[in-house]
Amino acid sequence: MKRLIVYHPGYNIRIPGASLVHPFDGAKFAKAYAMIQREVPDAGVRTLSPEGPISDEALECFLTAEYRDALNNKHTIVSALEVRALRLLPMWLVQRWLLKPMRYAAAGTVLAAHQAVQGAVVWNLSGGYHHAAPDRGEGFCLLNDVGLAVQDLRRSGLLGMDDRCGIIDLDAHHGNGNARCFLNDEKIRILDAYEDGLCSRDPETRSRVDIALPFDHGTSGTRYLATLAPALEDFFARGPMRLVFYNAGTDPYQGDRLANFTLSEDDLVRRDQTVLTAAERAGVPVVVMTSGGYSADSWHIIGRSVSAWLQA
Ligand SMILES: [Zn+2]
Repeated sequence: MKRLIVYHPGYNIRIPGASLVHPFDGAKFAKAYAMIQREVPDAGVRTLSPEGPISDEALECFLTAEYRDALNNKHTIVSALEVRALRLLPMWLVQRWLLKPMRYAAAGTVLAAHQAVQGAVVWNLSGGYHHAAPDRGEGFCLLNDVGLAVQDLRRSGLLGMDDRCGIIDLDAHHGNGNARCFLNDEKIRILDAYEDGLCSRDPETRSRVDIALPFDHGTSGTRYLATLAPALEDFFARGPMRLVFYNAGTDPYQGDRLANFTLSEDDLVRRDQTVLTAAERAGVPVVVMTSGGYSADSWHIIGRSVSAWLQA
């Protein structure tokens, strides 16, 4: 299968002084892409870019009317992002600096899904906003890009209503928004590995997960990878899928500020290769998204992992 990247400079969340109030590095997408360009000679020709942010029309179909209206209110956006200091910004800056990058990320995941379902593995350098749902945003997530991508594939006919897809969510936090998007949709198979004690602890969304891997505080890379491999085998053995969305959050990293795993950078690169190799063996295309990651090294882990995979 072809191996591609999706990137747009609009992914980056550039708010002056933001690093003082939140551990998310809003420029990490640009840093990761610059590293990939240095490491991989043909990265440029393997890169696609969304034409613009996701359309109002796509959001109208996907979001509830109440949440659509709420996104015009800066308090909704600021509270979903859990950074109270941002409430001091005017609405037009909240839209430009916060909502717009997530609209670009969602457009990137939709573009990646269109490519992937036709037979490719595509790494979107943003996306994976897995706490957002059609009726709400939370946990630094405003728009559920996987839900929007599945909607788009079904509406465009690239995915039939009987086609199955999968979500492998290896971000350190439970993907409650993904589960909520597909609460009653049995065509979507979900594997979710997360730190048990972290949010979200919603029992309804946790019980929607088909293969759950709840890990203890302080779980090592050795234990993590040994648990993941048979779970992936089980996931792919449960029947064919047209496409898998892989949430490759870098927050299981030992230096992360919002989770407590002890995986090294090598462990995370190995984790990504393990998932992509398992999918390749099963003949299933993949959309990879970078999801959460709240350490100063997050961009470097992404850059290394994507570069290694492009050159393997
Ligand atoms: Zn996370």
